[in-house]
Amino acid sequence: MILEAVGVDGSKQYGCHLCSMMLGEHVLLDAGSASMLSGGRQEEVKTVLLTHAHLDHVLELGFMLDATVAARGEPLVVAGSAACLDMVGKHYMNDLVWPDFGRIRISGSPSLVYMELRDREWTRLPGGVEAWSEPVCHGAGARGFIFRSETGSIVYTGDTGPTYSLWEKASELDDLRAVIAEISFPNSMTDTAIASDHLTPVLLRSELRKLGSPEVPVYAFHLKPWNRREIKEEVAAGFGDAVTVLRRGDRVEF
Ligand SMILES: [Zn+2]
Ligand SMILES: [Zn+2]
Repeated sequence: MILEAVGVDGSKQYGCHLCSMMLGEHVLLDAGSASMLSGGRQEEVKTVLLTHAHLDHVLELGFMLDATVAARGEPLVVAGSAACLDMVGKHYMNDLVWPDFGRIRISGSPSLVYMELRDREWTRLPGGVEAWSEPVCHGAGARGFIFRSETGSIVYTGDTGPTYSLWEKASELDDLRAVIAEISFPNSMTDTAIASDHLTPVLLRSELRKLGSPEVPVYAFHLKPWNRREIKEEVAAGFGDAVTVLRRGDRVEF
């Protein structure tokens, strides 16, 4: 299975792309930059899996539905925690801010259906990847995930401050291939990171300790664009080659 970085940035500014990752060809993980996919690739997406309902992670879900609704033979499945889906339905796809695509029917079927992911269970997604949903320390119904294919697993923190159970579960895996973890702020902004439930390079170091010392590559994403250079320097100084800052277009195989 391939995770492909469509957008990796922790906010929006000229030349930046909000978080979206493809898992194979049929699952889109977060929809911040869904419109960066070609029309044909958007039509191939069967499930959009949301880490949480913050705007930078759901922004282009509405545009993706708009662009592909007529071409879809079946509803787009939007999956996430119950709290996250509730927020998306009430505050985004509510026939006020954006059409409620759950009520727009094409050939008798709704254009969008919600699928609640149960915590701490494996859920099979299109293309054969399985997702383990774990509550993390962030607002908006946030979840981190472990993704499992036939050949390995990866941890994906989503947005989170210091957390525990995700690392506890990940430490049980014997086929871990990579860790994909958020870093939003530089070390000089640790107070801001803690207050907003995000990580810095130093905070990530203590998170990785909870995992033990796995010899797997770690990829960082969700950097605030205006702090990117400072964070990259701190990552290079603190971790050397052990942590790579993810770029748009990068692919992680597992
Ligand atoms: Zn967030
Ligand atoms: Zn975010």
